[in-house]
Amino acid sequence: MSAIIPITPLPNAAAASADGLGCHAGKDQMLDAAAKAGKSEVLAQYAADYPKGPHDQPQSMCPAFGSLRVGLRMRRTATILSGSACCVYGLTFTSHFYGARRTVGYVPFNSETLVTGKLFEDIRDAVHEQADPDKLDCIVIINLCVPTASGVPLQLLPKEINGVRIIGIDVPGFGVPTHAEAKDVLAGAMLQYARQEAMAGPVAAPRQGRNSKPTITLLGEMFPADPMIIAQMIAPMGLAVGTVAPTREWRELYAALDCKAVAAIHPFYTASVREFQAAGRPIVGSAPVGIEGTHDWLGSIGAACGVSQADIDTARNQTLGAMRGVLAAQKINARITLSGYEGSELLVARLLIECGADLRYVGSACPATPWNKHDADWLQSKGVHVQFRASLEQDMAAVHEFKPQLAIGTTPVVQAAKELCIPSLYFTNLISARPLMGVAGAGSLIQVVNAAIGNQARFDEMKAFFGSVGQGDEAGVWEDVPVMHPDFKKEVRRQFEKKQKKRKAEEMG
Ligand code: SF4
Repeated sequence: MSAIIPITPLPNAAAASADGLGCHAGKDQMLDAAAKAGKSEVLAQYAADYPKGPHDQPQSMCPAFGSLRVGLRMRRTATILSGSACCVYGLTFTSHFYGARRTVGYVPFNSETLVTGKLFEDIRDAVHEQADPDKLDCIVIINLCVPTASGVPLQLLPKEINGVRIIGIDVPGFGVPTHAEAKDVLAGAMLQYARQEAMAGPVAAPRQGRNSKPTITLLGEMFPADPMIIAQMIAPMGLAVGTVAPTREWRELYAALDCKAVAAIHPFYTASVREFQAAGRPIVGSAPVGIEGTHDWLGSIGAACGVSQADIDTARNQTLGAMRGVLAAQKINARITLSGYEGSELLVARLLIECGADLRYVGSACPATPWNKHDADWLQSKGVHVQFRASLEQDMAAVHEFKPQLAIGTTPVVQAAKELCIPSLYFTNLISARPLMGVAGAGSLIQVVNAAIGNQARFDEMKAFFGSVGQGDEAGVWEDVPVMHPDFKKEVRRQFEKKQKKRKAEEMG
């Protein structure tokens, strides 16, 4: 095999082997190293696809988890990581925590194999070894931060071995801001590959055969019942739900491209949208959440598919009547703040407002795109502060500012809210993991939110019982009553401030 591609030193091996490259290294240092290593083009594409804001560094899990998860959820697909052992440990741990039930491949490296280019050789050998067409349709290789910054050239891997497709992607934390957008990196790369295959000749039909009706591809990972609920909603317009992308199988990619229109339910799939547009498919943003959201979305889908106004009205009447009934019977009466990194935050925010909530703030770690503009405009017209690329600090500031009766957010936000004696719900585990669309979405959200708000009395009781025990300096296990040392604290602070001043003076001069 070494005769095919001889071992060549990496373009920027010296930079890659420099001490300190990783999450903890400066973003600029990593970007510079990657650019020198010949990755400028891919990084420029990421910069265009995933525009940065105040939140331009991962503040949650490693972004590569998004790509890893998309690969692990697909049948007949093997995923191999190339990166530092600590990164791979964290990523495999997280994927198994979320029930991957699949082996994650890993090609380890050391400074020698990185510097000499042997790492690429090892990756190529691993791919050849794995490429068994009886077991696999596709092998995904993901370059993490250090191999990306070192320029490990995955693009030089064969596109296909024994009929098994090979997809190599760079997913560095300094180029892809969130794990949500990392899902798009892999989904987009797969759609591009599948589109080129479809253009080159006949491709496999979906397992259950082609749908006789024109189909809508749903873009975004959603609760399993949501596609079925959407299918019922659009049936009066003569439309069917085709495939949900990212898909669960390679051949579904062709079905996803073979649609009448794409519903960008999750708005951050920029690279995937580019592939659908290249295939000539119109894209519709937002989603059928709440009465106004569903009304508008059904209208947009109908218009994109050339459906008559009469059929659009029939679809609207069928769903909106039932939804009005649910919303008339129960309400949310509470002040709420909402934040998350899944990309569906604005949809949940819309639904909360339509369910009666006094929502003050919605923060999303994802960026503003054409596909969430409608939702952002709608929310802002209701007086909600919409923060794209929200940082943890902004989410926390909103909790302090608005003193909500319920804080929905990421783990650190929920933890802080609980310390403040505010009932709170994890966005990812408790809100994302339930239906959101149509009548079922409204009913389910009202139920979980009202149950959480109803816990306020339990928080008050616990707070009254424990007081300030276990907070600040008193946290931890004590055998005696903690003794405060204010003088010591003062001295440590004085020394710290002195050091800070000295560092600043050195930086300036
Ligand atoms: S791959 Fe992920 S965990 Fe590793 S250095 Fe990059 S962002 Fe951090």
